Amino acid sequence: MSESDTTPTALRTPIVAVLGHVDHGKTSLLDTIRGSAVSEGEAGAITQHIGATAVPLETISDMAGSLVDPEDFDLPGLLFIDTPGHHSFSTLRSRGGALADIAIVVVDVNDGFQPQTVEAIEILKRTGTPFVVAANKIDTTPGWNPQEGAPIQQTYEAQSSRARSMLDENLYEIIGDLSDNGFSADLYWRVQNFQKNVGVVPSSAMTSEGIPDLLAVLMGLSQRYMKEEMQIDVTGPGAGTVLEVKEERGFGTTLDVVLYDGSIKEGETIVVGGKNDPIVTEVRALLRPRPNAEIRTEKRFERVDEVTAASGVKIAAPDLEDAMAGAPVRVVRDRPVDEVIAEVKRELAEIEVETAEE
Ligand code: GDP
Repeated sequence: MSESDTTPTALRTPIVAVLGHVDHGKTSLLDTIRGSAVSEGEAGAITQHIGATAVPLETISDMAGSLVDPEDFDLPGLLFIDTPGHHSFSTLRSRGGALADIAIVVVDVNDGFQPQTVEAIEILKRTGTPFVVAANKIDTTPGWNPQEGAPIQQTYEAQSSRARSMLDENLYEIIGDLSDNGFSADLYWRVQNFQKNVGVVPSSAMTSEGIPDLLAVLMGLSQRYMKEEMQIDVTGPGAGTVLEVKEERGFGTTLDVVLYDGSIKEGETIVVGGKNDPIVTEVRALLRPRPNAEIRTEKRFERVDEVTAASGVKIAAPDLEDAMAGAPVRVVRDRPVDEVIAEVKRELAEIEVETAEE
């Protein structure tokens, strides 16, 4: 595809975060996307990650039906970060911005905007992260006639005019709230330019209605406006962000990391942001969840030799006790270690400024 064979660049998966007020359906929406990806039944329909779920383009296309033609895309799919809380989201940064390339703000269509919805939108505004709004739980509209897994247009046509107008009323309320918060928004099929306007996608995590639309909008947005940012040197030294610091039996303190650039290999030296000075250590093991892991088995993870962005991975290494969630992780590889330490320090200082402002 590329005319040059000297630069080992590739398009990486865009990283998607799901935000919203508690109980509006973040977890359910992710579970639904994951679940229907799995039940598409193809081998490797999703890849198991730590702290994230990768859904490849073919699976997205199978789920979205006619709304996503794989021929139209060259991005490899979407990587969904498992719902971090807001405070962690605001500290989840990558070099020069938010870790997530794109976000879904979930709003209960009956409940409308709530304090954490506003908070989420403030964070996205501040970090300049493009987002779509999933107006969720449309199936709870009185008199709703559910169309399992259908795109919105099709679902709409199956509703009574009373149910439709009740839903419309709630949707316009959300559009109004977005406008009060400084975003011009509309129902997604009316949005011409997703850089200027926020698209609202009616959805249900319960009946999967509108999920095809949500996936289509996310793919379209990434492909259209973020393709250049997704161009990475896959063989470059890895860069990532710590999602969680966790004790793991047999491995000691480990890091759950989202790698957003380059690659990381077993045995490599890494620099990790710590409570005091940056930690310089060596990767003892790179771990992925074992496919179809039985919950009670001791060996929940399998080792991999190398991981490339964008992915979620667990890193086992000595001396990680003082590592912090939100901190940067860098592979040193061919660079002077001091240079990498300085880079990590600079980034940590930025995060501290941000957190202090909250
Ligand atoms: P979170 O706190 O945002 O992660 O919300 P959850 O995903 O835990 O959902 C909160 C509650 O709303 C749970 O009882 C879900 O079953 C329910 N729920 C989530 N999405 C939907 C939906 O689309 N329709 C209906 N009827 N219930 C939903």
